[in-house]
Amino acid sequence: MTQLQTQKPAFEGGTPVRDQFLIFGQPHLEEAEIDEVIGTLRSGWLSTGPKVSLFEDHFSNYIGTQHALALNSCTAALHLSMLAAGVQPGDEVITTPLTFAATANVIVHAGAKPVFADIDPVTLNIDPKEIEKKITPKTKAIIPVHLNGFPCDMEQIMALARKYHLHVIEDAAHAIEATIGGKHVGQFGDCGAFSFYVTKNLVTGEGGMVTTNNSEWAEKIQMYGLHGLNKGAWKRYSDEGFKHYQVIYPGYKYNMMDIQAAMGIHQLPRLEKYLNKRESIWKRYNEAFVDLPVILPAETPKNMRHARHLYAIRLDLDGLTVSRDQIMEALFKENIGTGIHYISLHLHQYYKETFNYQAADFPHAAKVSHQTISLPLSPHLTDQEAQDVIDAFRKVILYYKR
Ligand SMILES: *Cc1c(COP(=O)(O)O)cnc(C)c1O
Repeated sequence: MTQLQTQKPAFEGGTPVRDQFLIFGQPHLEEAEIDEVIGTLRSGWLSTGPKVSLFEDHFSNYIGTQHALALNSCTAALHLSMLAAGVQPGDEVITTPLTFAATANVIVHAGAKPVFADIDPVTLNIDPKEIEKKITPKTKAIIPVHLNGFPCDMEQIMALARKYHLHVIEDAAHAIEATIGGKHVGQFGDCGAFSFYVTKNLVTGEGGMVTTNNSEWAEKIQMYGLHGLNKGAWKRYSDEGFKHYQVIYPGYKYNMMDIQAAMGIHQLPRLEKYLNKRESIWKRYNEAFVDLPVILPAETPKNMRHARHLYAIRLDLDGLTVSRDQIMEALFKENIGTGIHYISLHLHQYYKETFNYQAADFPHAAKVSHQTISLPLSPHLTDQEAQDVIDAFRKVILYYKR
């Protein structure tokens, strides 16, 4: 993501709605986290230490799991979850193709085969009926992704897991605030993986977390994330005196720094406030776009809370004279940054060539790949900026309407 304030040439529709470029997914940081980061720098304890420990405690409290293990990314959280689940070469892991690359990449990192199951065309989340069709004797685990913040149908997914003895790792990178029946996602499966990347709902720059109620998994994930050293090895240089350690497993360097946790401990208590802000922008967008040739994001069932991470609107391409990419280009000329979540992984070179996928193998995910466009939804947006997004989107869509 570039942080440049660039000025772009005018859209052929005339003067752009904005003269300053509006960055998609801008993080919202406040003075408390800036002060805490500076305090951490001055403290001399920069890497994994007391602040990581505090952030883990607060995070497990917020989600409602016994354990939360902080790592340097959600990708690391997903990778170590694969290892904790015992995923190995020869195994298959089922996931959605409509997700970020990391969700499927980690399956490959563990030496296993990613097997995609198509999405539900309304919620855009993995369809439990499609999962069941893909289960074989080699299937070891399922990675459901709560896409854009919309909770997956965990009741059905967990029923499949029990029926076929599979592990479930929830990719909750978009969904910290999402709940089902009042319970946070990330506690329905064996574990949940969260991201604190700059564009996510809670920001530590780079960072991730695993939540679990399984103490054995928690211990493994902590150990695998710090070179495979035995418990509490990060304390080896503390004032408690030098501690010898043993290498238990050839682990990874995935630990979170206190500098990152310093941001996390202040962002966490503001999640609900930021969610309310995004919720109100979400409503404004829905009301403003209802008459356009678009498909608004699906309504969430009453027992679920949507985390409002990404406002992904779908274009009714039959009602427009141009492609999604040209709409995106026009919005760029209006100085509005947008995103695409996502181009289905089965259409990406590596997955297409390695696993011999055809576009038609996952028709719903393929269709969404060409329709979807995400509009800015950061809690950093001012009322005027949200209005600029509305004005620019309406201007461009009406310009290209059939
Ligand atoms: C961002 C994201 C990840 C990876 O998160 P990092 O913290 O950047 O590693 C994984 N899955 C999904 C769905 C994401 O959006």
